[in-house]
Amino acid sequence: MNQNGFNQLQLRLPGVGCWLGLLAVAWLLATLGLGWLVKSVLVIILLLLLAPVVAFLGLRLWLKRSLVEGDCPVCSQSLTGLKNFQTPCPNCGTVLKTTASGFQRAVPEGTIDVQAVDVNASATEPASPAPGEPIDVEVRQLPHSED
Ligand SMILES: [Zn+2]
Repeated sequence: MNQNGFNQLQLRLPGVGCWLGLLAVAWLLATLGLGWLVKSVLVIILLLLLAPVVAFLGLRLWLKRSLVEGDCPVCSQSLTGLKNFQTPCPNCGTVLKTTASGFQRAVPEGTIDVQAVDVNASATEPASPAPGEPIDVEVRQLPHSED
């Protein structure tokens, strides 16, 4: 009964108990003349706390250098993208390539490479698909762009 109640109390206050224990150990070590040990442990804890902050700042710096702001060349929607990545415009759906200077169409205008895939043509059907019939179309990115 008592043992069970003690366990429940510990489960409810795991963080407080942990810190109180650490403080007690630190105080004990300090009274034993092992303050240097406390200091080194504190330095390690400080480093552990600082590591994610440094990582976060580094990530922010990287994002700041990699993020490009510009307008969609098709519909002038203002966009933000990662450099050297391709992203579809949320407004008009055009696939855009992010460059250092802004956004470009990933595929130059008028040179869309269309490839028909698996079009069923039998003797009873016309060669061209009926209006409204879905066609599988694959649009590929060309190696060079319109500069
Ligand atoms: Zn657009």
